[in-house]
Amino acid sequence: MRHGRVRAANDRGTTPTARILVVGGGYVGMYTALRLQKKLKRELRSGDAEIVVITPDPYMTYQPFLPEAAAGSISPRHVVAPLRRVLPHCQVIVGEVESVDHAKRTARYTTLASSDEGTGPASIAYDELVLAPGSISRTLPVPGLADHGIGFKTVEEAVGLRNHVIEQLDIASSTRDPAIRDAALTFVFVGGGYAGVEALGELEDMARFAAKHYHNVKPEDLKWILVEASDRILPEVGPEMGRYTIRELRGRNIDVRLETRLESCENRVAVLSDGSRFPTRTVVWTAGVKPSPLLAATDLPLDDRGRLTCTAALAVDGAPHAWAAGDAAAVPDTTADAPGRTCAPNAQHAVRQARTLGDNIAASLRGEPLTDYAHAYVGSVASLGLHKGVAHVYGRKLKGYPAWFMHRVYHLSRVPTVNRKARVLTEWTLSGLFKREIVSLGSLERPRAEFELAAGGVPPADPSADPPKGPTDDPSPDPKGSS
Ligand SMILES: Cc1cc2nc3c(=O)[nH]c(=O)nc-3n(C[C@H](O)[C@H](O)[C@H](O)COP(=O)(O)OP(=O)(O)OC[C@H]3O[C@@H](n4cnc5c(N)ncnc54)[C@H](O)[C@@H]3O)c2cc1C
Repeated sequence: MRHGRVRAANDRGTTPTARILVVGGGYVGMYTALRLQKKLKRELRSGDAEIVVITPDPYMTYQPFLPEAAAGSISPRHVVAPLRRVLPHCQVIVGEVESVDHAKRTARYTTLASSDEGTGPASIAYDELVLAPGSISRTLPVPGLADHGIGFKTVEEAVGLRNHVIEQLDIASSTRDPAIRDAALTFVFVGGGYAGVEALGELEDMARFAAKHYHNVKPEDLKWILVEASDRILPEVGPEMGRYTIRELRGRNIDVRLETRLESCENRVAVLSDGSRFPTRTVVWTAGVKPSPLLAATDLPLDDRGRLTCTAALAVDGAPHAWAAGDAAAVPDTTADAPGRTCAPNAQHAVRQARTLGDNIAASLRGEPLTDYAHAYVGSVASLGLHKGVAHVYGRKLKGYPAWFMHRVYHLSRVPTVNRKARVLTEWTLSGLFKREIVSLGSLERPRAEFELAAGGVPPADPSADPPKGPTDDPSPDPKGSS
């Protein structure tokens, strides 16, 4: 175990005056580091400050584009911003922070090399801490969920889900067993927030288009079910637009079930609280988020929902030199009518909080006054598939094509870097001229399988395949998995 405090020397060979450690390279982490790069130009150049970003992936994911990545409207690599290019004046460490001892101003983290090194987590000292590890899927103890559920928070999940959905059409097309076909063509989404509704809307649209290219699968054969525990969906666009979205989805033959919960998905059968049962190979879980478990491994104050309690200036309450924002932070909503409200976990707040956070850290290092974060939620836009959308922004309500167009314009203006904007716009333009791609590259998830078979090894099992059925089944291995 290596416990030594890592404290890199700057170019002049002296230790920097202030090391700012940013934990997380998502919305808050990347935009805060970007702001600090700008605000602390002089200090970074002279070596009086340095910024270290520790994050598990070398890229920031623009999550609002995940549904379009799943539908194939945007390439996965254009949904992410490479941190090393965006943050040339920061040190980016690809790793995961395991714990923070703020009293000692140290964090322990592992990297991809940690297990090979056999030295255990490294320790890094800091002067200022930005804790922005975001959130993870909020799951419930539903039987079978851990084995069969599919999340929708990362670009890998979005691409995996796209491949999986197309693979189900291939399975349905090639089987003679009606039960297998029925399960393959049934898609259950749990959670009616924007992640679930947009993912379902985009994928249903894509699958309906793809089905037209199969000789024996018709778009009407596909069964899509949205399960929502409350009495409405898409609360982000308000009740009226939420009701419109239900009508729009039902008009597309999507089975929207309100006040219903998923009770089990064991043995690939989705059992709902209204008593219905759907054999299915696809259960997508988008029923909300909870703060990153890292927060519990710190000595910083948390609220009853496990978020860091923060002041309106985005400082962690009662913990000098610790800062937080985004999904991991309970930030007072100073624009709310009722006192005690905190900002909702969304990108709209995260990106704006990051700007204030960067400014406040720079101000604090210079002994200048801090600014409180204030932003009144302006509403939301959501895509429901190609040319379909819903929006409620600045009091204006839009439906259908205008809402979808607004969704694209808004997100194009928000996606980081000019480079990404140009690539996304090019892709959208090209997909307007040519039709969508409808192939599944699921085998990309098992790239060595073919070679291992050729070399005489046993390829790894396909994680999406059905579990082995028992001793009476044909024991000969299927090298290609279920597809
Ligand atoms: C599918 C989907 C669609 C969405 N659409 C919208 C939308 O249309 N509008 C909107 O306003 N919001 C939307 N959101 C929500 C929005 O993306 C989040 O609110 C926002 O990303 C929060 O920013 P963050 O920086 O707090 O967390 P994130 O952006 O999630 O960043 C957290 C970062 O911390 C890293 N991390 C985690 N654990 C550790 C650790 N132990 N050590 C180091 N790093 C760690 C993660 O890898 C990640 O890079 C959507 C979310 C999803 C999933």
